[in-house]
Amino acid sequence: MLAALALATLTALHPVVAAAAPAAPPAAAGASTDTSIALYWRTKAERSGYRQTPDYDETIRFCKQIEAGSRWVKYVSYGTSGQGRELPLVILSRDRAFTPQQAFATGMPIVLIQNGIHSGEIEGKDACLALLRDIAVLRRHAELLDHCILLVLPIFSVDAHERRGRYNRINQNGPEEMGWRSSPIGLNLNRDYLKVETPEMRALIGNVYTKWWPHLLVDDHTTDGADYRYDVTYGFNHGPGTPAAVTRWLTDAFEGRVVPRIAQLGHVPAPYVMFRSGNDPTSGINFGDSSPRFSNGYTPLQCRPSILVETHMLKPYETRVRATYDLLLALMEEINAHPDALVRAVAEAEGEAIARGKEADPARREVTLSTRVTDKSVPFAYKGVATKRDSSDITGSMVPRYGTEPWDATIPLYRETEATLTVRQPVGYLVPQEWTSCRDRLEIHGVRFRRFALAWRDTVEVQRIVAWSDSAAPFEGHHTIAVKKVALERRLRAYRPGDLWVPLDQRSAMVAVQLFEAQAPDGLMYWNAFDTIFLQKEYAEDYVMEPIAQKMLADNPALAREFMAKLSADSAFAKSPEQRVNFFFVRSPWADPEQNLDPVARALRAPPENVLEKAK
Ligand SMILES: [Zn+2]
Repeated sequence: MLAALALATLTALHPVVAAAAPAAPPAAAGASTDTSIALYWRTKAERSGYRQTPDYDETIRFCKQIEAGSRWVKYVSYGTSGQGRELPLVILSRDRAFTPQQAFATGMPIVLIQNGIHSGEIEGKDACLALLRDIAVLRRHAELLDHCILLVLPIFSVDAHERRGRYNRINQNGPEEMGWRSSPIGLNLNRDYLKVETPEMRALIGNVYTKWWPHLLVDDHTTDGADYRYDVTYGFNHGPGTPAAVTRWLTDAFEGRVVPRIAQLGHVPAPYVMFRSGNDPTSGINFGDSSPRFSNGYTPLQCRPSILVETHMLKPYETRVRATYDLLLALMEEINAHPDALVRAVAEAEGEAIARGKEADPARREVTLSTRVTDKSVPFAYKGVATKRDSSDITGSMVPRYGTEPWDATIPLYRETEATLTVRQPVGYLVPQEWTSCRDRLEIHGVRFRRFALAWRDTVEVQRIVAWSDSAAPFEGHHTIAVKKVALERRLRAYRPGDLWVPLDQRSAMVAVQLFEAQAPDGLMYWNAFDTIFLQKEYAEDYVMEPIAQKMLADNPALAREFMAKLSADSAFAKSPEQRVNFFFVRSPWADPEQNLDPVARALRAPPENVLEKAK
């Protein structure tokens, strides 16, 4: 640590290639560190024979060293972590297009590589430090910037990265010390894309993603789970719920050309390995979709692809760094060779989203909010390792013991998906201004909205929550609300100056739909933004309600039958004077008409221009 600090101080004063020859630890035997790279430019992982990874300060210093060593590089901070650390972003551009506006003017695809959302899974950082150096300083792959602008988050979950330790990920094969999975307040950033509650994710989405609008996001991880011969696996959303042009780019360009190229570079790539049943390869692989709390589920809502990269924790750290490096290299080669394909795919997806928002026929505005894999499979040549299964008196069941001998088998790959939830997208959403979390989310996600300048009334569609369940155990700081059934009702609603109109003829329409539909898997309803609608606020005293109830029974034979049926079917109800009184109260004119209604309304038509504030 002291030697590294001294080196950084020294080299900062003499930023010259092959400057001093610092006392770096010798490369471990077998580590194929390229000794033609001057010591000054070697990453800490390379210098340590891939035993160590740099801490936050060392990482930032190396990024700034690269910036000082290349005209094509700019280091910026895009926000502050919970513990007050700068969030680092490195921008690579041959044209020195270091702002979003300059980048858009080039017409080039913009690629965002994100490392360390789970900061113990950190090979992406070490791969990127080497890649940035190789492209921008050593100019070994300088041509990769001919048609592309690269944004790199060396470490995303910076605070967790500094909670370093040897015991943060059980059984992980290096580096010696690694960061922690969740942020200091216990939140998993990799569940926070749509709900944007952590300062880190709010900065990433608000200050990077929706300012630069990268055409592609790459999210680097390390998986655990069953062992196999693959050193790098990948995932992406596809099929219903993902724009067709985005799916096409991911399957044609990434899977069709980049993945074979990764294999050509000496790796063993595969779709992300998630077995249908436990750790049993013969049950087949489920290659399905992620919900919008994950990167893969979020970016398609913004009409853009993302790729999840998962190396395997049992593989040596060097293998994992090199696999990630080569995947990124192959990906950039593809984008350099066909930059327009990616730009066109995103433009087509945006065009479709906008056209759907203008569609007059509601039946043609149907969108998919969640999916599952079907039972249809294709054969897949699985590259496993010989596995023994022993009975264990620890687990009381069979435990796999992974060997090193190859084991090959043809297994089913389930990659066809079908919708499990679809809705007809409304013309737009109407949001009363007092529900402030709605405006906050729209602003961070770059969803365009306008405020009312004048009062306006209209018949709208509201979602009545008919059936729901809340989670008993907290999840990501929430007792989440899973809505099982919604009834759409028409109501006359009055809007006031300052209320929000969210039209859906826009690029980010699906973000609004996933935020505001009550049954959406990661919507505001699910994450408790509207919990207060479920509480009954007024009750009737028995002596007040009893005579009114008698009159209601006398006037309404159907109600009387309903009451008698409930008394005989529900003994708890029959024994509770409070519940019996409330039965009549909630059916009386004094009941709260807003209870169990989602406050965000589905518009049947757009408000007239003259009641809205001027469009920006
Ligand atoms: Zn992870």
